[in-house]
Formats: sequence, structure tokens, C-alpha cells
Amino acid sequence: MQQPIKSARSFKRRKRTVTFPYMGQSHAVFKELLINLGNDVVVPPRPNRFTLSLGAEHSPEFACLPLKIITGSYLEAIEKGADTIVSTGGVGPCRAGLYCEIHQFILNELHLDVDLIVLEPPRVDLRDFIGKIEALNANGFSKWHVAKLVWYAWKKIIALDHIERISHRVRAREAVLGSTTKAFKKATAIINQVKTLSDLEEAEQRAEQVLTDVPLKPGFEPLRVGIVGEIYVLLEPSANLEIEETLGEMGVETERSIYLAGWTKESKLFKKPGRKNQERLEQVALSYLGEMIGGHGQDSVAHAIQYAERGFDGVIQLSPFTCIPEIVAKSVLERVSRDFSIPVLSISLDEQTGKAGFVTRLEAFADLLARRHTALQRKNACDDGDPIRQSDEDQLVEPKLSSTAARHYINE
Ligand code: SF4
Repeated sequence: MQQPIKSARSFKRRKRTVTFPYMGQSHAVFKELLINLGNDVVVPPRPNRFTLSLGAEHSPEFACLPLKIITGSYLEAIEKGADTIVSTGGVGPCRAGLYCEIHQFILNELHLDVDLIVLEPPRVDLRDFIGKIEALNANGFSKWHVAKLVWYAWKKIIALDHIERISHRVRAREAVLGSTTKAFKKATAIINQVKTLSDLEEAEQRAEQVLTDVPLKPGFEPLRVGIVGEIYVLLEPSANLEIEETLGEMGVETERSIYLAGWTKESKLFKKPGRKNQERLEQVALSYLGEMIGGHGQDSVAHAIQYAERGFDGVIQLSPFTCIPEIVAKSVLERVSRDFSIPVLSISLDEQTGKAGFVTRLEAFADLLARRHTALQRKNACDDGDPIRQSDEDQLVEPKLSSTAARHYINE
């Protein structure tokens, strides 16, 4: 039986103990915002195997991975005393639009007396949106003051994104394994310690400096890989088995198609979504996938094309098992891969995915990209009439693959 999501009228303004989905670096910002509004906060533990099995136990069997992880996070936070869950709603023709209904259903089934406050885009129902924010505004601040707090949180999210992007570039070139991860923790702590908007800019510079101080391998130019796919598994490292850290430590620079600020825009809470950007992506994907198929399927195709056009060495698509938009995108990406001559690796993630096998696949893919990159460089040198390279022309063959797994990707 479907449980209707409660409207703003159902929620009284009061001091709450609030929790929310755990996603990337956003938890510290949301925690600060909710505390500033006068609430207590229970940040759910970073999702792990226990979170997932707890969520899977109480979710429909064929629900997608993000729903199971978020369910587990909610239940862990409720166990620690949370009495209110704040989440964004979902739009579009995929299951994300029903997440909150399913969560409400699960809470009712478990007889958990918890308020589930679902923030739908203000343009859908402005009064409902304001009413729900008021329910969280325990300090009774004016709307203007609340808007200023939200703006400050937004700026912090942008700063965290900026730092994270730098970390991906630095990690692939680091001279000492693990030094970037340590520096990144320090850099995010600097941003998170800031208490006012006026201090943020200076803190961002200090955080950037911590990362740019990491010693690099001289002259090393890493492979570049674009990561596309479903939003939750892109943003939450525990859901994607820390793919960016793993690839970075293999000497591969990554860029992903969505960062936190992108998600915040997509949730359409702080401003109208990036329509221009969205329309541009639809245009890019048009001749391959002309329909909005829900989730980020169309975006995955568009971003993969853009990465190919920008000269990236490869693309990795991450999708939760049974995610229909990404399954459709996967079949289209095979054509993109052929047409743009860019290797694409599609990885489906579920509760059975183990880190060791995952890392082996990444190593094999990186191995394939490295050999391909070298062969292309040699070929380009010959085409440019480099006399030394031309003497090596007999070596200009398709790269030989070093592992069975790498051959498997070529065949895929
Ligand atoms: S995009 Fe995929 S994983 Fe996300 S809700 Fe839709 S079907 Fe599930």
C-alpha cells in the first residue's frame, strides 16, 4: 500500500534531531546548516557493508543499490536518536521519484515514529517548500536569515568540489603513494572548520595550498579517464569502492561528470536547475539517445562524448545493478565507443561487488589504456614525420594486452 508523503502542514516547527542521506563530502555542510537552524543532528555513519545489508534487509529485493544504502543509513541514524529525516524528492521517469514513498512505507512497517520531510523543488509547490523549511527552522530566524545560511552552505559545497577536483589531478601525479589522500583530508577539514562566509575564501586558498604542496613525480603525465553514471554511486565513494582514489593511486587522473554542486542544482532546491547546461547535454546526446530516459542515462552518453572530444583516454560508466537508465546508456555507449574510438568500461555495482575483483578490472583497463596511449603517440609521431619515430614504424601495431581481463574489455 502506497504511503503518501506528508505535506508541510503535518510538521510543526520544533527543535529536531535530524538526519539525512550520507553522500560524499556533503554531510559536514548539511550538519552545519541544520545546527545553525537550531536543530541537533545525527550524521549517519559512512555507509559500509553493515549499512548495505541492513538496508537490503528492509528494502524491496529489486530496489536499486542507492535506495538500499540510504535505507540502511536512515535506520542506523534512527538507532542513534534521529527523529526527523530530511531528503530531497525525485523527479523523472525512474524509481528515484518513488524513493521517499518507499522509505515512508518502510518506516511505517517498522513502526518507527520519525518525521520524513521531503523537500520537493520550490517551483512545484513554493508554499509547501517554505513550510517544510520553517519546520526545520527551530531558531525561528527570518526568511532572509535562512536564505543567507543556505547561501553560505552552497558556497561551502562549491569550495569542497573545487578542492576535490584538485585532489584528482594531484593524486595521479603524487610522488609518495597516499600523500594526496592525507592532504585532501586536511584540506576538507580546513574548509569545514570555517564558520562564516567571509572566512571561506581565505580557507579555500589555504586548502588548495595544502594540495598543491604535495610532492609530484617530475614530468609525469597521467592517463585521463572520465567517470559517468548514476548520481549516487558517482558521488559516494563507499558506494563506488573509492574508484577515484584507486585509479589516482594507479597514476590515472579522473574527472567525474557530476560533483556535489551539480547534485544540489539537480535537486532544484537552491536555484532553478542548470537548464542551459541540461539542454546542452541533451543536444550532445541527441543523435545517440534523443529521449530523456530518467536518472542520468542521457547525461552519461553526453558526458562520454564530451570526454572523447576533449581527448580523454577512456571512460568508465558506473551503474547500480538493475538501474534501467544506465542499462540503456550502456548499450548506447558501445556505439559511442566505436564512433569516437574511445574505450568504455561499464561497471555494475551491487551488494555482491567485491573490492579485489573491482580493482583487478580497473588495473586491466588502465593497462589497456596505457598501451593504447603509447601506440597512438607513436603513430602521431610518425604522421608528423618524426625521423626517429619513422625508423620504429614496424613497431606501430595495436598494443598487445598484458592480461586476459584486458582482452575481455576489447571484446566487450
Ligand atoms: S537512476 Fe537508477 S539507481 Fe537511481 S533511482 Fe533510477 S533506476 Fe534507481
